[in-house]
This record gives sequence, C-alpha cells and structure tokens, in this order.
Amino acid sequence: MVLPFPYGLGAALAIFIAFPLILRKRYMSKMRGYGGESGTGRGGFFGMGSSGGSSGVRYVCLVCNNKHKGGTCPRCGSKMQRADF
Ligand SMILES: [Zn+2]
Repeated sequence: MVLPFPYGLGAALAIFIAFPLILRKRYMSKMRGYGGESGTGRGGFFGMGSSGGSSGVRYVCLVCNNKHKGGTCPRCGSKMQRADF
C-alpha cells in the first residue's frame, strides 16, 4: 500500500494508535468470556479441557485431601469434595 506522504503518515499513525486498543479490547472480552481465570500457570478449566485430553476437572477430597476424578474418593470413600481447576 503506497499512499501520498500526509495520508500515509496519518494512516500509519491511526493504525499504530488503534491497533493496540483493538487488541486490548479483544483480549479483555476474551478474558471475561473465560470467566476471569486467575491462575495462568495451572491452565484453567477451558485450557485443560481443550488440550489436556480426557482428564478435565479434578476434585480434591475434603477428608483426606486426595486428588481424584470425581465421584467418591478412591482412598477414603468420602463424597465430600471440591473442584480443583
Ligand atoms: Zn478421601
């Protein structure tokens, strides 16, 4: 794209100013769509679901703190558990 000098400069400035704003806006809406996951290192629910394969959500037993895949705890048989993302 070759434009005359003043228009080309204006277009370049507009792109340089608008592009980060558009990117940031998209990024923010994307983060809001993901539900505002806090821990980036652990992947989050959607990240694990898409890339991690079959093991989606893990559960932590509230009695013996054992991590398992839901249902009853295989170690102590308790159903008291919380989701661990
Ligand atoms: Zn347990």
